[in-house]
Amino acid sequence: MSNLIFNSVTKVFGEGSSKYVALSSVNFEAESGQLILVVGPSGSGKTTFLTIAGGLQTPSDGEVTINGKQLTNLSKKEQTKLRLDKIGFVLQSYNLVPFLTVKEQFRLVDKIKSKNLTEQKMNELLDDLDLSELLNKYPNELSGGQKQRVAIARALYTNPEYILADEPTAALDTDRSLAVINILKNLARKQNKIIIVVTHDLRLKDSADKVYQIIDGKMELL
Ligand code: ADP
Ligand code: MG
Repeated sequence: MSNLIFNSVTKVFGEGSSKYVALSSVNFEAESGQLILVVGPSGSGKTTFLTIAGGLQTPSDGEVTINGKQLTNLSKKEQTKLRLDKIGFVLQSYNLVPFLTVKEQFRLVDKIKSKNLTEQKMNELLDDLDLSELLNKYPNELSGGQKQRVAIARALYTNPEYILADEPTAALDTDRSLAVINILKNLARKQNKIIIVVTHDLRLKDSADKVYQIIDGKMELL
């Protein structure tokens, strides 16, 4: 059983008069098989929370543990390995490589990491996300929603234990949003993954096992 726990995590940016508390004593718990939603308005601390959960930023205070191991106690090398092996990020900016086609974005992942989805599983995923027709297109030939779905597919391609998604439905219409959330929910249920989605999209609320709300850096379980 995997888990991800925040114990009184605070994140402060800047100092003195420009000091800003982005997360304030945040407690959070996720375990295998769950789809967890963190909802909050823009500027409430969602991206800060998610990047700390994935070890892309460190907390100013408090502890983050993944499978019982405190993240900040791991060396940089161990953290990088953990991210590569276990975590799939869907970042707000999509992070697609501009000079690679959709298909090549996945081949690039193969160069960095082995044991990715089999071709058959991958084709199913591309079908589910309605991407099969777009494999030879470059990012600048795709709409925002298409890019977003490619970014989601790429995160899932490595078959990660944890999926951390930042506003993954922001560019999608309601049907596609619900389709994406259903894919994520199925992955949690059937493959026992931990899926954390931060969003200001309240359409997704009913699909989650657990919903936290974050406002001005303060998190509460709804
Ligand atoms: P959200 O994702 O909910 O929109 P963020 O986590 O991006 O919110 O930001 C929360 C607050 O922290 C915002 O007020 C933002 O300006 C501030 N913030 C985020 N990152 C930094 C940073 N690197 N330096 C200073 N302030 C930051
Ligand atoms: Mg954000």
